[in-house]
Parts: sequence; C-alpha cells; structure tokens
Amino acid sequence: MTQASSTQNLQADSRDHVLPPFTDYQALNAKGARVITKGDGIYIWDSEGHKILDGMAGLWCVNVGYGRQELVDAAAKQMQELPFYNLFFQTTHVPAIELAKEIASIAPEGMHKVFFTGSGSESNDTVLRMVRHFWACQGKPEKKWIISRLNGYHGSTVAGASLGGMKPMHEQGDLPIPYIDHIPQPYWFGEGGNMTPDEFGVWAAEQLDKKIQEIGADNVAAFIAEPIQGAGGVIIPPATYWPTIKKVLAKYDILLVVDEVICGFGRTGEWFGSQYFDLKPDLMPVAKGMTSGYLPMGAVLVGDRVAKVLTEQGGEFYHGFTYSGHPVAAAVALENLRILKNEHIVTQVKEKTAPYLQKKWAELADHPLVGEARTTGLLGALELVKDKQSRERFPGGNTGMRCREHCFNNGLVMRAVGDTMIISPPLVITCEQIDELVALARKALDATWAELK
Ligand code: PLP
Repeated sequence: MTQASSTQNLQADSRDHVLPPFTDYQALNAKGARVITKGDGIYIWDSEGHKILDGMAGLWCVNVGYGRQELVDAAAKQMQELPFYNLFFQTTHVPAIELAKEIASIAPEGMHKVFFTGSGSESNDTVLRMVRHFWACQGKPEKKWIISRLNGYHGSTVAGASLGGMKPMHEQGDLPIPYIDHIPQPYWFGEGGNMTPDEFGVWAAEQLDKKIQEIGADNVAAFIAEPIQGAGGVIIPPATYWPTIKKVLAKYDILLVVDEVICGFGRTGEWFGSQYFDLKPDLMPVAKGMTSGYLPMGAVLVGDRVAKVLTEQGGEFYHGFTYSGHPVAAAVALENLRILKNEHIVTQVKEKTAPYLQKKWAELADHPLVGEARTTGLLGALELVKDKQSRERFPGGNTGMRCREHCFNNGLVMRAVGDTMIISPPLVITCEQIDELVALARKALDATWAELK
C-alpha cells in the first residue's frame, strides 16, 4: 500500500468511526484529518512523512518532549509490578504515595495534600464538589456560588464547562449549571478599549469585587481562574490584575482556586503559575504537564486550610474516580518530575529559553499583520489585525484559521483562537529551535498577509 493511499484509508476510517473532540464534523468530512504517526523531541511527523515543529506541545502538555525512553521504561516497569490498583476504601499504593509527596515538595507554600484525578476536567469537577463540601462541613452550605471568568477554560465535563466561560460551550447542553457566575476576563488587547493595560487590569479585577457584593459574600464559595488563560488565547493579564485580585480576595472569606492545568509543571519558568504571580491558592487543579501527556492524569493540590477541614470534620468524601492515582500514570508522572528536576528544565525556561523567546517573538510585532506579540514563560500569542492602531480585525473572522493552515502546511503547529495565534512549545525547546519556530511563524504570517492584501 502506498503512503498516500494508506493516509486516505486512515482518513476514511476515521471519518466513518471516530467522533473527535472540538471538531466541526461537516468541515472534517470535506477535508479529512491529518494523521500524526510519531514524535521525537519537539517534532511530530504525519503519515505522509512531513516533519512538523509542535509549537503547542500536543495540547499544552508534552513538557519534556516526545520520545523519552525513561517514561516508557517507568510505565513498563510499573505495568509488570502492579498495573492497577485503586485508592478507594482505605487502600493505597507506592507510586501514588511517592508522587503526592514529590508534588507537595514543589507546590506553593502551604499545599501538602493531593487528590488524584484522571484529567483537568475531572480535577475541576473535584474542585466544585470539594469547595462546597468544605463550606457545608462548617455549617455554611449556602456558600456555594463559584465565580469564574468569561472565556476562561476549565474543561469539558458539565462542571468544567460550566466553570469555564466559553459561550459556544454554554450554548450546547444548557450550561452553566446553577450557582456559577462569570466576570470579564483581563484581556486588554481585545477588550481594554481606551484604558491603559494597567487601568484595565485594575478594572477587570474590580469586577470580582462587584460580583461578590452582588451575590453576597456569604453565598460565595470560591473564585477560580487560570494564572494565564490558555485556551482563551494566551491572555496574559496586565501587571495590575493579580495584585488587585489579591486585594479583593483579602476582604472576603472566599477560597482561591488557581487552575494550573496549563501553567503547572514549568510552563511559566516556575513550577507553578501561582509562584510566578505570587498567589496563595487554596486549591490547584493540575493535569497535562504532570505526565508530559504520556498518560492521562490529573490532580487537585489542596492547601492546609481546606485539608484540615476535610480531614478533621469532613467524614467520608463521596467522590473519586477509578483511575484516581493510577499506578502506571503515577510512575510516569514521578519519572517526568525527575526529568524536569534533574535536567533543570524549569530553570532553563526561566533563565534562558523564555527570555530568548520573548525577544524573538517581540520581533514579529513589526509584521504588518501583527497588532501585538506577547509571551510569558513558554506561552506566546500574536494578535492578527487589519489596523494596528485601532486593533480592528479583518472581516470574516477567519484570518487565524488561514494562518494556522499556512503554519501546518509549512511545518509548524500554531493554534488559532479566533484571530489570535498561540504557541506553547515543549519546555525542552532550545534557542536554535526557537529561531526555527519564529522563522516558520513569520513565513506563515507572510503567506496569510499575501492572501489578504
Ligand atoms: N483547565 C485548563 C486551564 C485547561 O487548559 C484544560 C484543558 O485544556 C482543562 C482544565 C481540562 O483538562 P482536560 O482536557 O485534561 O480535561
């Protein structure tokens, strides 16, 4: 069978049998999905043999890069020893214990306990149930509202999608569920109007104060937010945002949940985004980079205040997943953390590759299509605009998708969120590879610009 016909057969079988996530099925039927067959380092290959620089680390997760034999060996060894056991009903196993201890050693101050899940969405489902249980245990069951942000992303389960602020997701399936409300996001480029970024950061944070007063502080359980919104378009809040949020939270007795599913495990150049922004979360949902995506796994890191109530007053927490703390995933996560530590990958991001990316990425702002080029750590975004001054977009709303196609066809994965192009490469990317990434991005911008002129 030729390579081409095997790709076509795979695409046909995929079309016939797979309903893929976050996919417009009509568009897919016309075109066929790209078949990815292998990965090594920061590159992936498709079934036609094309080599592609994976600027998104899969889905923001392959932090140590593809093809790490140590992770394969860790999984194989654990599968031979104990492929499955659970943490229910007073049983446990070594990989889960060791992993929880290791995570506690890198977590922000005052976080010592871990509730394991199978994904980021399950982590946020756990958050919802845990914060309500926390307040109910203390005789405050009415404290159940959770405030989140428009255009935030917290997963695809019913709780995750409700906590998230994605309008198209809410429109399918009658979401959000009750007792969840959303405030505006700190997206200066898109929504800052005539305010300066700093003014807008304060304004956006003050919306939390307003919302708490509207609902009544006695009814609010928690505020949940990503340190940097990922899926919303790598929205890096203005410098005034988090300090103002901290001031607001200090006025009320409300839990802070920092969703670290993307920012966790080194993405910002710190172990967690909370450390980058100097936040003191009560709960931290994590996933993705925890295993570098080699196996599905998530967790909620639990701060001392919540842990104390759960363990001393909570009774049985009627919540858990078959794969909570899965031993093979835990063994892989442990090895992944060992790699991140031993190879000083997080430090390298902070001291070398993140500053280098910031400098190189900023150079793209001279392109006629680019209204803003921003990065923090190894997260980056480009705003594609018709007019740099007014930040006006091109009509049709498909400039980002066009650019994404040019990227893919030229050997680069960049994701389009509307007309915002985003990157989140593996944390092992080198400065030379950043040069390659930026050159490929510029090539795609040129091709997009040539079509639009
Ligand atoms: N939270 C954030 C911030 C995410 O970016 C994601 C996924 O992209 C999730 C939660 C959901 O994670 P999962 O897809 O593993 O369920």
